[in-house]
Amino acid sequence: MYCPFCGAEDTKVIDSRLVAEGSQVRRRRECLSCRERFTTYEVAELLMPRVIKRDGTREPFDEHKLRSGLQRALEKRPVSVEAVEAAITAIKHRLQTAGEREVPSRTIGELVMEELRHLDQVAYVRFASVYRSFQDISEFRAELDRLEGAVQGDRER
Ligand SMILES: [Zn+2]
Repeated sequence: MYCPFCGAEDTKVIDSRLVAEGSQVRRRRECLSCRERFTTYEVAELLMPRVIKRDGTREPFDEHKLRSGLQRALEKRPVSVEAVEAAITAIKHRLQTAGEREVPSRTIGELVMEELRHLDQVAYVRFASVYRSFQDISEFRAELDRLEGAVQGDRER
């Protein structure tokens, strides 16, 4: 990285060690031009991305909202709380490891649909029909056909 004092491109790492129980790397660096020394810390970025809404505004990722969306789709369906929590964890993990600082709300919706498709077909269709707000009945039917095809595919596997 560039020297924060003189802007020179070459800095040398003179010491490197793990800190904070191994969750960070601390590096002492020395600028090859001005000889100033400074410290950098390296940490894994596992923050939840911010959500870009349809109107372009941004908001923090809201786990509560994600959970209530799933629960609404799964109302009166035979799916355990544990399975729902596992789906939420899987979605969060996907978002964290994608490494994006912002994701469209649409991306989260697609991840929810993917999880619901495995959890419960009825919940999946409920969610998809609201989420995709099908323009007309033929579009909805096309989605159902696609879904039936996918179920068939799962059985054949
Ligand atoms: Zn320098």
